[in-house]
Amino acid sequence: MEPSARPRKILVVDDEPFVLKVLVRQLTALGYEDVLSYEHAQDALAVLEREDHDVDVVFTDLQMPGMDGVEFLRQLVQRGYDGQVVLVSGEDARVLNSAEKLAYSRGLRVLGSLAKPATREQLQQRLHGAAPAMCASVPQDAYPPEALRNAIAAGQLVTCYQPQVAFATGEVTGVEALIGWQHPRDGLVPADRLLNGLQYYGVLNDLTRSMLPSTLEQARQWQHLGDDFRVGINLSMDDLAALDFPDFIVEAAARAQFPLSRLVLEINETRMTRDRLVSLDVLTRLRLKRISLLIDDFGTGQSSLAHLRDVPFDELKLDGSFVHGASRDASLNAIVKASLLLARQLNMRTIAQGIDDLEDWNVLRELSCEVAQGKFVGAPMSAEALPQWARTWAARYAALAR
Ligand SMILES: [Mg+2]
Repeated sequence: MEPSARPRKILVVDDEPFVLKVLVRQLTALGYEDVLSYEHAQDALAVLEREDHDVDVVFTDLQMPGMDGVEFLRQLVQRGYDGQVVLVSGEDARVLNSAEKLAYSRGLRVLGSLAKPATREQLQQRLHGAAPAMCASVPQDAYPPEALRNAIAAGQLVTCYQPQVAFATGEVTGVEALIGWQHPRDGLVPADRLLNGLQYYGVLNDLTRSMLPSTLEQARQWQHLGDDFRVGINLSMDDLAALDFPDFIVEAAARAQFPLSRLVLEINETRMTRDRLVSLDVLTRLRLKRISLLIDDFGTGQSSLAHLRDVPFDELKLDGSFVHGASRDASLNAIVKASLLLARQLNMRTIAQGIDDLEDWNVLRELSCEVAQGKFVGAPMSAEALPQWARTWAARYAALAR
C-alpha cells in the first residue's frame, strides 16, 4: 500500500465481541467497507495466509486468551505480512507503548496505538496519519519483499565474507561471515542491503545455524592468512533464546576443527532484548568456553551501557554510521573517541566497521582503533575471492604505510 493511499481492506482482532462489533461499525461509518473481524487471532492468521497480502491494515487487541496480541504480531512478521498495524488495548499506556516499540523493532509498520474505547475521530486519525517513516529499519534501496522470498526459495542466499585487518600492521585479522544474495542479474548483493529485509521477515534465524558448519570449515582453510585469524558470525535473537546454542556451536567448531578462541560471535544489541535472562545464560556460557563476544553496531541500540555492564563482551564493534565521515564531523569524532576509550578501559578489542575511504582509515588509525572493516579495505566477497584479495591488500597496505 502506498503511504498516502487509503486502506482498502482492514482486519480487526479482539476477543470481546462487543468491542469488535463497535470497532467494525465505526470503521464502516468512516467509509471502510471491507472490514474482516475475528475473535481469535488464530482465525485471523488463517485468513491472512489465504488472502496473503490483500489486507492493508490490521487492528489488534493485546490482551486476548489463547494467542495474545504480541504473539499475533510476531506471527504476522513470520508470515511476511507487509501491511500496517494499529494496536488497540485496555492496558495502561506503558504496556501499549512497549508493545508498539516491540512491533517497530520487529519491522512492522505501526500506525499507532489506541486506548479502548477508541473514538471514531481517533480511528480516523490513525488511518489517515499513515506514517511511512515508521519502517525506518527497511533500507530505501532494499529489494521488494517478494524478491527476497523468492531468493530464499531458490536457494540463492550464500555466505560471503568481509575481511578485517589490523590498522597497525595491515595483517589480516579475520573475516565477518555475512549472508549475501547471489542475485542472478546484480551479482552478489551485500548483506547490509539484505539483512534488514531478512530480519524484517524473521527468517534470519534458521540461516545462522544452517550456514555455521560450512563457514567454520571454510574459515579453517584461511588460518594461514594471519596469525590471529578469526571468524565473526552474526547471532540472531532466536540463537540467544535457545539454551542449547552453546553446545551446538561447540560441536560445530569441533567437527570443523576450528579453535573456539578464534570464533567471534557478533551480537547486535537490539537482538538481545527478548528474554534477557536466557540471553545472559547463553552468552555467559559461550564466554566460559573462550568464545569471543562482540557487541555489534555499538552505539546504535538502546542501553548500550547496560549491556556492557551485564554481558561479558570482550570485543566492541563501532557502528559504521559513527565511523564513516568521522574525519569531517566533530560530533562523530567525539563519539568514536569516547567509545574507543571506553572499550580500552574495559580491556576490549576494538573494531571499526564503515571504513569506507582513506579519511576514515586515517582518522581511526590515529585514534588507535585496532581492527578495520569496510569498503576501503574490502567489500563482502565470495569465499573464492578472498585469497586473491589478501594478495592485493598486502600490496595496498605497503603503499599506504609508505
Ligand atoms: Mg556484524
